[in-house]
Amino acid sequence: MVFKYTGKDYKEKTVIRVGRVEIGKKFVFIAGPCSIESEEQLAEVVEGLLSIGVDILRGGAFKPRTSPYSFQGLGLEGLKILRRISEKYDIPIISEVLDPRDLEKAVEYVDIIQIGARNMYNYPLLREVGKLEKPVLLKRGLSATLDEWLYAAEYIMNEGNEKVILCERGIRTFVKHTRFTLDIAAVPSLKERTHLPVIVDPSHPAGRRSIVPPLAKAAACVGADGIMVEVHSKPDNALSDAAQSLTIEMYKELVRDVRRCL
Ligand code: PEP
Ligand code: MN
Repeated sequence: MVFKYTGKDYKEKTVIRVGRVEIGKKFVFIAGPCSIESEEQLAEVVEGLLSIGVDILRGGAFKPRTSPYSFQGLGLEGLKILRRISEKYDIPIISEVLDPRDLEKAVEYVDIIQIGARNMYNYPLLREVGKLEKPVLLKRGLSATLDEWLYAAEYIMNEGNEKVILCERGIRTFVKHTRFTLDIAAVPSLKERTHLPVIVDPSHPAGRRSIVPPLAKAAACVGADGIMVEVHSKPDNALSDAAQSLTIEMYKELVRDVRRCL
């Protein structure tokens, strides 16, 4: 097995700087809606989040929906909204790109490119983001082993981009009590093997909002470098992932509780 760039022989620790934020150094809070729905919606969310102390704003413009008939995101228009909000409120932003053909445009707008779980095995896309200077948040595939996930990171790093952040977001198992199974042991296991920062997304495995805060606390306790959480000003009206989106109020409590675990 050759883990040329992700292994600890290559480097002891990676810290990725995005504006004022140093991922891998201090625990980072990434939050925002699953999808960008409108400028008003995003402004409402970010105003709530900034009062709590969030480091990076998330929002999907190109959405990988299971059904082709579900809301697919605002596309490039969404990224433009996200950029305007980023500048107005002075906060770095992250958004997912699904199609290599959208990359060139997307890099003009976002600070971190997200590669979604469904695309962890999309080697042409990984190679393309490997040619960029921008940091890449690489989510774990729905059934990926740690080896497969680290090889996906190798695909990116082998092209020259060493700013890779790993994001555990739950895997498919036989259980039905949550949407996915958060593999919390993946965090310390990765820490033994790689110098890359490891973030946890507690929202997608939870699938419903009551389960998100305990998973977020678990992530902080096992040594994750941060969490990415879906938050909406009116979660029940969210156009995607409504059930797992937290209210601003719930997120405020979550941040307070997570800070106690750090
Ligand atoms: C998301 O972050 O909204 C998302 C679609 O995540 P994942 O790729 O983990 O399903
Ligand atoms: Mn989502």
